[in-house]
Amino acid sequence: MCAKRSTDIETFMQGVIDRNPGETEFHQAVREVSADIIPWIQDKPSYMEAQILERMAEPDRVVSFRVCWADDDGNVRVNRGYRVQNNNAIGPYKGGLRFHPSVNQSILKFLAFEQTFKNSLTGLPMGGGKGGADFNPKGKSDNEVMRFCQSFMTELFRHVGADTDIPAGDIGVGAREIGYMFGQYKRITNQFTGTLTGKGMEYGGSEMRPEATGYGAVYFLEDMLHSKGDAIEGKSVAISGSGNVATFAAEKIIHRGGKVLTLSDSGGFIHDRDGIDAEKLAWIKELKGVRRGRISEYADHFKTADFHERTRPWNVPCDLAIPCATQNEISADDAKALIANGCMAVSEGANMPTVIEGIDVFLRSRILFGPSKAANAGGVAMSGLEMSQKSARRSWAQEELRNLLREIMDGIHSRCHAAGLEDDGYCNYVRGANIAGFQKVANAMMAFGVV
Ligand code: NDP
Repeated sequence: MCAKRSTDIETFMQGVIDRNPGETEFHQAVREVSADIIPWIQDKPSYMEAQILERMAEPDRVVSFRVCWADDDGNVRVNRGYRVQNNNAIGPYKGGLRFHPSVNQSILKFLAFEQTFKNSLTGLPMGGGKGGADFNPKGKSDNEVMRFCQSFMTELFRHVGADTDIPAGDIGVGAREIGYMFGQYKRITNQFTGTLTGKGMEYGGSEMRPEATGYGAVYFLEDMLHSKGDAIEGKSVAISGSGNVATFAAEKIIHRGGKVLTLSDSGGFIHDRDGIDAEKLAWIKELKGVRRGRISEYADHFKTADFHERTRPWNVPCDLAIPCATQNEISADDAKALIANGCMAVSEGANMPTVIEGIDVFLRSRILFGPSKAANAGGVAMSGLEMSQKSARRSWAQEELRNLLREIMDGIHSRCHAAGLEDDGYCNYVRGANIAGFQKVANAMMAFGVV
């Protein structure tokens, strides 16, 4: 990269860092995008003059609020809730809610910023937002989770709405939490609207929503492999996480004839040398989804597996990797270990799971690398289809939705491929996703003038 471009990026980033002190995850997400966008807009003065990237990196608004609730022993507990509304140039804000003790403003701003590009890539009319709370649902009773969700929604309802901002699930927010929040929203507003997605099938949810992010990440992986005349069948796959995204990514890999070697949670990872088949995966879904147990129990139950405490699975030799737990879970050393062990493709199911230096390792090694804003967009795309179904007051069949998801992921892959293809035939999907995601939002912002 020429010296001027590199200086422009550093000058831009210094402004972002000065305005958002200490928000390291937000800086990381903005840096990753600006490294591609700033060189790309150098010869597009209208974007430069309108300060489009500067405006995208400044959320429309950030709301934070107190959430009080009482635990089962009658103790009063206090958490902090947030909603970050990053950009609604192409549609109402849309993005998940995360309940996890690590949640803070920096993490939610990075997620809302990323979501803006991701939602644009889907081709659907959705802006970018994200929210959540530093509440830990782990170890809480159903009643405690319900009281927390009700208290959280008692404030959040002022800021969201079917045409304003439509939250969904994320880490720590699944069907149970969405149910409690929608129940409270309906009670307060006396309206049955499509304000939340990820709802149960009985009250306005969509078939295929639970599967969509994990399946979508595998479809994207498959599209990258197909572009090289390759396929998933017969390949070994390392997956991290064991929640919604990880389990459905594993399921689709199994459908495609791949061998899933690993899954993980925050306690460590399991390595099953014989592979995690459909039956074992059903056991894991019950363990994590119903009994809310730990992944270490898998190794007690299945003797073909070892449990590795407090370690991530990236040293296990594999052909393909799908990180599906959380941000920054692949370090530069992890990336080097994956490459050294022969990994040929990575599809990011989680949001920003690879540190910037790790992404550099993957791109320099010229492996297929699907960044999260493209590879995991299947979930929000299905949420967009849930919104369409709600507006049309009808439900589409599973098969129809599966085909639509496939079409949307293929479309995202094509857009990223077209924008990221280099002269030597290598596709830099990171650049492709950033440029393709940026263009639509930028053009809409230009149409609105300075607002
Ligand atoms: P879940 O809560 O269902 O599962 C999260 C999984 O990741 C759990 O196994 C959890 O382990 C593990 N995990 C969470 N935090 C950490 C950590 N700090 N270190 C190690 N492991 C961790 O969440 P989802 O599957 O929904 O989300 C996973 C990722 O995918 C997130 O990055 C999310 O933003 C992203 N995503 C999710 C979408 C969706 O549709 N759900 C859509 C697009 C992206 P433990 O049980 O021990 O906490």
